[in-house]
Amino acid sequence: MNYKLWIDGAWAESQQGSLMQVENPANGTIIAQVVNASRADVDAAVRAAQTAFYDGRWSRLTPGQRSQMLWRLANLLEERMETFARAESENTGKPYEFVSLGADLPFTVDNLRFFAAAARDTHGSAAGEYAAGFTSMYRREPVGVVGQITPWNYPLMMAVWKIGPALAAGCTVVLKPAPGTPITTLMLAELATEAGIPPGVFNVVTGGNETGQALVEHPDVRMISVTGSTGTGKKIMKTAADTLKRVHLELGGKAPFIVFDDVDVENVAAVATLTSTFNTGQDCTAATRVYVEKRRMNTVLEAIVEGMRGVKVGEQYEAGVTMGPLISNVQRERVKGFVDRARAAGAQVLTGGDMVSERGSGYFFQPTVIASADQQSEIIQNEVFGPVLTVSAFEDEADAIRLGNDVMYGLAASVWTKDIGRAMRVARELEFGTVWINDHIPLASETPHGGFKQSGFGKDLSAEAVNDYRVTKHVMVKNG
Ligand code: NAD
Repeated sequence: MNYKLWIDGAWAESQQGSLMQVENPANGTIIAQVVNASRADVDAAVRAAQTAFYDGRWSRLTPGQRSQMLWRLANLLEERMETFARAESENTGKPYEFVSLGADLPFTVDNLRFFAAAARDTHGSAAGEYAAGFTSMYRREPVGVVGQITPWNYPLMMAVWKIGPALAAGCTVVLKPAPGTPITTLMLAELATEAGIPPGVFNVVTGGNETGQALVEHPDVRMISVTGSTGTGKKIMKTAADTLKRVHLELGGKAPFIVFDDVDVENVAAVATLTSTFNTGQDCTAATRVYVEKRRMNTVLEAIVEGMRGVKVGEQYEAGVTMGPLISNVQRERVKGFVDRARAAGAQVLTGGDMVSERGSGYFFQPTVIASADQQSEIIQNEVFGPVLTVSAFEDEADAIRLGNDVMYGLAASVWTKDIGRAMRVARELEFGTVWINDHIPLASETPHGGFKQSGFGKDLSAEAVNDYRVTKHVMVKNG
């Protein structure tokens, strides 16, 4: 299948762009060709978004009208759930039943429904006489044309987390998906037009980092919203400074999973296994650093190793598979490099640590548990983005908090204990945008998701996300 760009509500030929191949990481076959969009293509998409913004075909609709069209899009996506789930699985290697159809798609539909409803929440407008003889009003207005850039780990869901709040607020959008996983985003844009969302409101330019760079540099883009690695976020923020764009950054994570000695070990091990291997560990909130109170270290470690050995790895449509391949060979080499260096530095690889050799040309990697890693080593400090867990011991509550916070990231963390007072104290001290108590990874459309520290700022999901795409205007009226 060959895809063009989606600009102004239709498939558009590229101007001077080249072509890129899209592969299925479970077996390395080429499944599609897409455009590596040029600067001219980005400009055409921004112009379409700008025209659509200023003529009011979207921004001046009532919130109720925008809401209706977003609902229609959610309904259409639900109707075509299997088609989208299949396309997503074939482009990312995600297990079809367990991840795409079982988790990603239903949640994504719910996210869209939430944003459809949130479009009608005006977020506390106020009018009053704050200076004598004047009435002041606050208007919450859409920011304008927004450039959005997404990663490859949840291509469709990340697209919806971006367009949902932006469109709800009345912005128009040019979205650039990750170079390797553009298919479902293009399908979503076509579906949006079918749902009645006017042409030019949601445009997609496919391409690599240079295409993204052109979008960030474009003077008519008012805001850049990106989900990606922390390094990418820093570069984008620097580039955006030249035109003083607003930036909204959802970046990397390195979630601690803090286990006190009063827990149900079996449950803890099951959740650690699931949440470090779900989506093959390519999740910014994945459990990556397990810290266990010293007394229970051996029992918990053994249970986790056993859990990781039991994970069923395989291709998209194999029965019972819960973990697919990594996204690419580059990513697999990267993950393997982290594990090899950890081993060389003296850490113990208790299970996994290598490619799954019998899996031919797919980019499979074994679920991996590492113990005795130094807190300052890169395997603990940096985001691996693969099915790799470190397990370390802590002495007491203060030590657990110190170790948990001792990374540059601050996206998500979990605390495991039956002691509610301790759970609340630790949750307060952890510098992370989300802290779970006695679970890890669940989110709801209503719950704000976003990082502290070098995991970025701004929220995806929740009413806060919609507000991130609004600016406040003060209108002051002289009375009489
Ligand atoms: P990446 O940083 O390599 O790329 C993300 C996107 O940015 C891609 O579309 C890429 O083409 C684009 N890009 C890269 N350099 C650019 C530049 N200089 N200018 C403009 N665009 C540029 O990330 P990835 O490898 O695709 O995704 C994995 C990363 O995403 C991980 O670090 C993960 O933690 C993060 N992530 C974060 C969240 C969150 O909510 N915080 C969610 C999912 C993924």
